[in-house]
Amino acid sequence: MDQYDVLVIGAGPAGYVAAIRAAQLGLSVACVERWIGKDGKPALGGTCLNVGCIPSKALLDSSEQYHRALHQFPAHGITVDGLSMDVPAMVSRKDAIVKQFTGGIAGLFRKHGVDWLQGSARLVDGGVIVRPGSGGEQQVQADHVIIATGSVPVTIPAAPVDGTQIVDSSGALDFTAVPERLGIIGAGVIGLELGSVWRRLGSEVVILEALPEFLATADREVARAAARAFQEQGLDIRLNARVTGTETDDSGVEVHYDDANGAQSLRVDKLIVAVGRRACTDGLDLDAAGIGTDEKGRIAVDARFRTGAAGVYAIGDVIAGPMLAHKASEDGVAVAELIAGRAGHVDYDLVPWVIYTWPEIAWVGATEQSLQAAGTDYRSGKFPYAANGRARAMEESAGFAKVLTDAATDRVLGVHLVGPYASEMIGEAVVAMAFHASAEDIARIVHAHPTLSEALHEAALATDGRALHV
Ligand code: FAD
Ligand code: AMP
Repeated sequence: MDQYDVLVIGAGPAGYVAAIRAAQLGLSVACVERWIGKDGKPALGGTCLNVGCIPSKALLDSSEQYHRALHQFPAHGITVDGLSMDVPAMVSRKDAIVKQFTGGIAGLFRKHGVDWLQGSARLVDGGVIVRPGSGGEQQVQADHVIIATGSVPVTIPAAPVDGTQIVDSSGALDFTAVPERLGIIGAGVIGLELGSVWRRLGSEVVILEALPEFLATADREVARAAARAFQEQGLDIRLNARVTGTETDDSGVEVHYDDANGAQSLRVDKLIVAVGRRACTDGLDLDAAGIGTDEKGRIAVDARFRTGAAGVYAIGDVIAGPMLAHKASEDGVAVAELIAGRAGHVDYDLVPWVIYTWPEIAWVGATEQSLQAAGTDYRSGKFPYAANGRARAMEESAGFAKVLTDAATDRVLGVHLVGPYASEMIGEAVVAMAFHASAEDIARIVHAHPTLSEALHEAALATDGRALHV
């Protein structure tokens, strides 16, 4: 029987990173993964690389290029005649990027001596049983088992996914043509990103959201600005709209929903179900292993990622915390270091959130609403991109940077960005907050001119009424 120091179940960003870090620390490591890629071959990388972060960003980028050429080139004095798009080519480009990256993980495993065991894992006393798709099974023992089995899309009985007309987020990355009328259930991050892709390519998009509030977890001012921008782009976002049922026929889907005015219906060609994700523990046999879950089915762990079973840990989307790839990877590094006897910790309060729409939305730390709820005396400084030279040069003047500080100490408590490349800009805010910076610290740091980062600089100044360009 094979014996390892560490056995990781799942090779998404949590699991593959844990495996690589554990190997770097001199431990013998195997990683079990059951994913079968679009080409029918076993693949590493999990949700993020195969059907999540990377493919969605590939399509967001392609659709953005098309949208720019169509709508923004004229403002730059560029005329394009005969502009057209090729959806299968976009999807193939996306698939090629995915293949390159999932293959890259296999290369990293080889480089670090991590054994990839292809198949499904089930926990047994002192190890796991690996069942390859080809049949048979193999028992593997390990001193430490890390569960990194991630998450899967939530399904709802009102809209059963058929893979053709009603799809989940994975299916929405593989449309072969632009649907004329596209419905989306759920105005969360995934619904908004996928809605943006297909809207930019020409779909009429209606997003049905059960909650009365748009982007409920975001700062209210951010949510309002985002709602305005999306509305201008023609994304029809209907709040208070709970989907109650669907009927499919050859030509499309009839979606039934309830809103404040009663029962409504909507006819679409395709429907994307994007109502969230749930922890995936299917087939692991957690009960037999004595591992508990919380009310949402996530594996319960302590501050050192330990489950209720000795030597068994859990990380990533399968435990509590933001369901984000960068959080999952940092869990992976931390657990490997803890197993190797080092220090390991992830500060979930400083995990940046990003929505890759246009304008992009990114934030870290507290919102005004959370500070108000906590009774914190705070200051808010805001600076519009309309007054930022680089943003104007880019013809991208929508949105703002906003800094929230503790009124007594000036410490930065939260940073919110709605604007171009917010995803890249948020890094400075995370570093500042990780080093307990004050707004004065950010204000005294020299920011290159002309850059978008000057908006953050000005927002820090604005907390003290000292912004220079508004
Ligand atoms: P996963 O990536 O889900 O990996 C878990 C792996 O475990 C899978 O490969 C699965 O096959 C395997 N597995 C499960 N059970 C078993 C078993 N019993 N035996 C063997 N293998 C098993 N996050 C971001 O931070 N940024 C983004 O831009 C972003 N975009 C997204 C876009 C979409 C459309 C989606 C769906 C998600 C997106 N996410 C994004 C979320 C991100 O993908 C997840 O947070 C991340 O993948 C979680 O990593 P993980 O390793 O915990 O789990
Ligand atoms: P997220 O969890 O961020 O991916 O967002 C999923 C969104 O889907 C949430 O905002 C939910 O309120 C929404 N949602 C869940 N079920 C329904 C439903 N039946 N009809 C409309 N929206 C829903």
